[in-house]
Amino acid sequence: MASGPLRLSDEPRPVPGAGEVLVRVLACGVCRTDLHVSEGDLEVHRASVVPGHEVVGEVVSPGSRFAVGERVGIAWLRHTCGECRYCRRGAENLCPNSRYTGWDADGGYADYTVVPEAYAYRLPTGYSNAELAPLLCAGIIGYRALERADLPDGGRLGVYGFGASAHLAAQVALARGATVHVLTRSAAARELALSLGAASAGPADAMPPEPLDAAILFAPVGDLVLPALAALDRGGTLSIAGIHLSDIPVLNYQRHLFQERQLRSVTANTRQDGADFMAFAAQHRLHVTTTPYPLDHADRALTDLAGDRVDGAAVLVP
Ligand SMILES: [Zn+2]
Ligand SMILES: [Zn+2]
Repeated sequence: MASGPLRLSDEPRPVPGAGEVLVRVLACGVCRTDLHVSEGDLEVHRASVVPGHEVVGEVVSPGSRFAVGERVGIAWLRHTCGECRYCRRGAENLCPNSRYTGWDADGGYADYTVVPEAYAYRLPTGYSNAELAPLLCAGIIGYRALERADLPDGGRLGVYGFGASAHLAAQVALARGATVHVLTRSAAARELALSLGAASAGPADAMPPEPLDAAILFAPVGDLVLPALAALDRGGTLSIAGIHLSDIPVLNYQRHLFQERQLRSVTANTRQDGADFMAFAAQHRLHVTTTPYPLDHADRALTDLAGDRVDGAAVLVP
């Protein structure tokens, strides 16, 4: 971010293609993946792409699934082929022909954007536009990461890192009766965790007060894989939520994996994950902590995110 990779520009309003609708952006969340796109941690898929894949907007061109004026959500996944072996077995998150909002196609750091209707979400009521935005990636990915962690009913969950995604996944786990231990370097995030109902909150590399049945690593820090695996009870699972992780140090088989502990990654999400999470959010009022920024301060929002200076989720409001 120090080199200023974002530029504000005036562009013509995008024109929806077949199966797409035009959307006026009401709020767009700022996700860590936007930082990876902007800083080049992820390869360039489209030169001068408009970032942003947590878009809450209002439909302004008529579609077949959504009416003009309807509030709609646009997320990271925006195309899968429907024909490959992964799509056919319900794992469209692994489709090698998939495309993504704010990476392959222009996203929501804008006044207007377009979305394929088949990949847009109906949104729960009872939330503001800014509160809904982080649900669309942070929320959905956290939800999938929790599913991948195989937390048993009433189990003990460790949450490593406590940003936008973690603070939502922790609430899902708590609503399902889990005991949640949060491990993060940010003192403010530890306070937020305790206020949401976490049983304990300590530094990122500390041992939780009891063994864990499951853990989720949200911080993009490979070093933390070791303490997180070491904290697992027999048969426990660690799921890694991030799209990008620094190198994992050498594991010690006895200390980190033996006793059938498992290490799993999480790759994007299926539309079913998104629909399931939106249904959960409609039934359980999640507390969504947001920090608003004007659209033309997107670079400041990303810089603050990179420096861990954002409480909850940063949200751009045009
Ligand atoms: Zn496919
Ligand atoms: Zn994201």
